[in-house]
Amino acid sequence: AIEARHLVKRYAELEVIKDVSLDVREGHVASIIGSSGSGKSTLLRCMNLLETPDSGDLTIAGESLAFSHARHHRPDRRQLQRLRTQVSMVFQQFNLWPHLSVLGNVIEAPMRVRGLSRRDATSLADHYLARVGMADKRDQYPAYLSGGQQQRVAIARALAMEPRVLLFDEPTSALDPELVGDVLAVIQSLAEEGRTMLLVTHEMGFARDVSHQVAFLHQGCVEEIGTPHDVFENATSERCRQFVSSVA
Ligand code: ATP
Ligand code: MG
Repeated sequence: AIEARHLVKRYAELEVIKDVSLDVREGHVASIIGSSGSGKSTLLRCMNLLETPDSGDLTIAGESLAFSHARHHRPDRRQLQRLRTQVSMVFQQFNLWPHLSVLGNVIEAPMRVRGLSRRDATSLADHYLARVGMADKRDQYPAYLSGGQQQRVAIARALAMEPRVLLFDEPTSALDPELVGDVLAVIQSLAEEGRTMLLVTHEMGFARDVSHQVAFLHQGCVEEIGTPHDVFENATSERCRQFVSSVA
């Protein structure tokens, strides 16, 4: 589960995340929508501490963190390490390591971060590569794969950490239109097995189908939040209505 309370993130004078509170229940899927620059990626990156919030509280995958400028409130190294094994992220640009094979990409973190043997990591990798339909490419290098295939490998890599929470930052935005469906199908199947996921997406139809909850972000604030029906058909915010009708 995720419980974010009053998160604030600044870059110098610029307050990019302003007092954001957001809950994602265990086994639920939440989507974040909003225009470019509204803070969606920053919020997601705060969830796995790729960015450190300036203030607020965050409980994610069983780890509770309180942020403030006081040094003693900073998460310690061991807590960070635990959080990083429990929360996996999938990026827009896949971020596969080009010098490693598909298999090499998937076993790296389980071996290095979770301390699995190569043998155990490999059997785990084979399991998750099969899950995303990429078993036959295990010895291939990323440069020889399509964007959709690379993204499915990136999802297998995230799953191989056996995380409690999955974060997706526009996982299909860099893909040619004909490759989007395969990746969305994988994410949909993960949602159906009851994984806890937080997803930034411009795929409004997908967000509507797959989410328990949708949040519309505007200038670092949650301006509208609710069920897909609330947000897509019944938004109180005029800006949210406009956004949804312009993208849909
Ligand atoms: P997009 O839809 O284009 O991906 P976004 O909603 O993900 O946009 P963010 O990337 O979170 O938006 O950026 C929010 C704001 O924070 C923007 O004004 C951006 O310029 C600023 N920003 C993001 N990262 C940094 C950084 N490292 N340093 C300074 N400003 C940043
Ligand atoms: Mg972004």
